[in-house]
Amino acid sequence: MEFSGGCLCGAVRYRGRDPMGGGHCHCVDCRKASGTGHGSHMMVRQDAIEVTGEVKFYESPADSGNTVRRGFCPTCGSAICSTNSGMPGVTVIRASSLDDPEVFKPQMVVYAARAASWDPVAQGLPAFDGMPPQERRPS
Ligand SMILES: [Zn+2]
Ligand SMILES: [Zn+2]
Repeated sequence: MEFSGGCLCGAVRYRGRDPMGGGHCHCVDCRKASGTGHGSHMMVRQDAIEVTGEVKFYESPADSGNTVRRGFCPTCGSAICSTNSGMPGVTVIRASSLDDPEVFKPQMVVYAARAASWDPVAQGLPAFDGMPPQERRPS
């Protein structure tokens, strides 16, 4: 499935394919960067998305110790995408920047314990207080 999106002013645009799902995050960093109570994140392989225009990045540490880089348009400030050093090869698109927001099919809610009372956790999705427990790898 193909999708497209961009920032509010149009200086940043992207086209991608085959989204891998994602979810809503109510962590403090996502709230502060979002303009509302949570960030909505859609994962896609880095080689399945092409971004045009200048994206500025803000780097900060995640609870896990990984580095999160949050990309935004330097002109209009719209959140576009992010990467996490713990997920190499993956770009995380902000669902808010999609041209067709229905492309995003959220699968879970993370940091649900930190949700603000005025932005309740989405119903009908698995919700985790923090990050979901890591899957055990077969040895
Ligand atoms: Zn812009
Ligand atoms: Zn978050």
